[in-house]
Amino acid sequence: MSDRLAYARALYDGVPLYDPKRAPVDLDLTDNTNLWGLPPAAERALRDLAVSRVTRYPSLYAAELKQELAHFVGATPECVVTGCGSDDILDSAMRAFGEPGSVVAGSEPSFAMIPIFAQMNGLRYVGVTERPDHQPDLDVLLAANPRILYLCSPNNPTGALLKRETLERAVREAPGVVFVDEAYAEFSGVSAVDLAMRVDNLLVIRTMSKAFGLAGLRVGYGIGATPLVRDVEKSRGPYKLNAVAEQMALAALRSDMPWVHDHVALAVKTRERLADELRARGYAPLDSHANYVCVPVARAVDVGQALRARGVAARPFPGLPHVGDTLRISVGPWELVERFLTAFDEATRDVHGGAP
Ligand code: PMP
Repeated sequence: MSDRLAYARALYDGVPLYDPKRAPVDLDLTDNTNLWGLPPAAERALRDLAVSRVTRYPSLYAAELKQELAHFVGATPECVVTGCGSDDILDSAMRAFGEPGSVVAGSEPSFAMIPIFAQMNGLRYVGVTERPDHQPDLDVLLAANPRILYLCSPNNPTGALLKRETLERAVREAPGVVFVDEAYAEFSGVSAVDLAMRVDNLLVIRTMSKAFGLAGLRVGYGIGATPLVRDVEKSRGPYKLNAVAEQMALAALRSDMPWVHDHVALAVKTRERLADELRARGYAPLDSHANYVCVPVARAVDVGQALRARGVAARPFPGLPHVGDTLRISVGPWELVERFLTAFDEATRDVHGGAP
């Protein structure tokens, strides 16, 4: 029997299931989550509050959570939409704004799911290589006449921050909606939310998976003009955010902000300390504004494998434009970073005699 059903949707043929085929390792530094753990009020909410909620449906569109998120980012609740992770916001927003066949343009390298979400929604993805200064090449992106222009700040995997003037020009000149993915914004202290509140074509996409330590709950959100977020909400559908996630996210926003701020500061300090350690070994890590370091390393895939053999995972990105092979390393408690560095020294010695 063919593995393609006669009634399958043709455009799904080329869509892979996300399967990085990575065996579990002892120390996983590949996903930029909060390696310090779970904030305490969120944990208490799981024990004391969330259990009582699961026999009934959650709220339709997470109104209470929208209120707290709006307060956190400096927006109004009517300008916020929630989803099952920022993945869900990106996917729903593409469905909301992309007519079948229209163009999603994205700067590359960036978040690997963007071309997949575009394809799944019947849109045409156009990737445009970033400039050597790690800023998007706006002239080329705009020339693609995108219905949706995807930008990411700080960018994954480089860690580069999008220049405000570039974003403002994108919003002014784009023929459609501009998405700014701010999954790592807490680590940079820079956000486009203020601009999203003033224009009608900017959707800022955020998550509680990184700084808030709640990746397993799948809580993401979008901020933009009310008509924009209303359409994302229609596309997302009702009852999407589960009741446990909503209660824990609410507890975190109401009572865990000191924890979140402390751990963001710690992540930033640790990121710089890791970058210093890499520089001391002769490497030239890219300037990062997120909770990871992206460092050019020759034969990064081989180095990644040699790390894995030592129970440590960092994500290799082979052949990035302008910088070549790199490894992206999530930061966490310093003792974990030290374990990484020990394994990295051995792995690079194995692969290329220790030279960067
Ligand atoms: N955007 C970027 C840039 C990311 O790196 C990720 C996760 N790695 C996401 C979005 C999705 O995160 P989540 O669905 O957990 O919110």
